[in-house]
Amino acid sequence: MKIGILSQDANLYSTRRLHEACQQRGHEAVIINALRCYMNINSVQPSIHFEGTDLIGFDAIIPRIGSDITFYGCAVLRQFEMMGVFAVNQSIAISRSRDKLRSLQLLSRQGVGMPITGFASKPDDVLDLIKMVGGAPLVIKLLEGTQGIGVVLAETQKAAESVIEAFMGLKAHIMVQEYIEEAGGADIRCFVIGDKVIASMKRQAAEGEFRSNLHRGGSASLIKITPEERKTAIAAAKAMGLSVAGVDLLRSKRGPLIMEVNSSPGLEGIEAATGKDIAGMIIEYIEKNAEKSRRNLQNQ
Ligand code: ADP
Ligand code: MG
Repeated sequence: MKIGILSQDANLYSTRRLHEACQQRGHEAVIINALRCYMNINSVQPSIHFEGTDLIGFDAIIPRIGSDITFYGCAVLRQFEMMGVFAVNQSIAISRSRDKLRSLQLLSRQGVGMPITGFASKPDDVLDLIKMVGGAPLVIKLLEGTQGIGVVLAETQKAAESVIEAFMGLKAHIMVQEYIEEAGGADIRCFVIGDKVIASMKRQAAEGEFRSNLHRGGSASLIKITPEERKTAIAAAKAMGLSVAGVDLLRSKRGPLIMEVNSSPGLEGIEAATGKDIAGMIIEYIEKNAEKSRRNLQNQ
């Protein structure tokens, strides 16, 4: 098969591994930088050009769209979809998952457990907002943040008020969330492919830190998840419409609670922690599903 990897950086671990796994399994792989693609969107023969050539003959695309280029990256992916190419994750599911507010609204509608969460932009009554989500201690998050930046633990009502007011001054959208203390600074990353959790790891925050992000000094280790955690992770990926997803959850007294669902989960940490060939499993998923999807399209 001819497989395109939509990625801005051929040197990233995940991109390299996917490229390698395609070749190991006997496929042709092309790394495509979405930002450098230009497209003809006519209805008769939609096309995509890259480095002066017409991108044709692809059987599947693996989107690895950075959060800084969601808009254009999804447009390029959508163009491939219009040309009948199988996308491992569809553009609509990726853009859905990139909007944290929309994601949590969708998850809650599906009955997936999550910490009590409030959203606000410019609340006219900060005290009422704090009361609405159950009072301090609270975790306050900037909606645009990633890798733990912009995630603050406010242990008292006063601290929560000050942080919310400071974020309001930045004209940012914020999320105010119940603090799950019993998680003990750990979260669980479940790697979902299709309708299975194929790998999972625990990330433990560094001493004195509550954020478990590896970028914030957290460390990863193997973990065995419970059937309930497995079910929750699969339900979360399904609610977002993602076939490949990194689902992050917290262990709480009332069961697994979803924090976020990532549409381009990194491979480095999870392959290192589990010793599994996850890139290979993604290619295997394509082998099983690309042809099926093409037949369905033809029969429509
Ligand atoms: P980011 O998107 O920046 O990674 P997250 O929402 O994933 O932000 O939060 C970063 C980390 O902070 C999480 O991995 C988790 O360890 C911790 N954390 C986030 N929200 C909560 C919460 N409500 N209760 C306890 N810990 C939390
Ligand atoms: Mg996170």
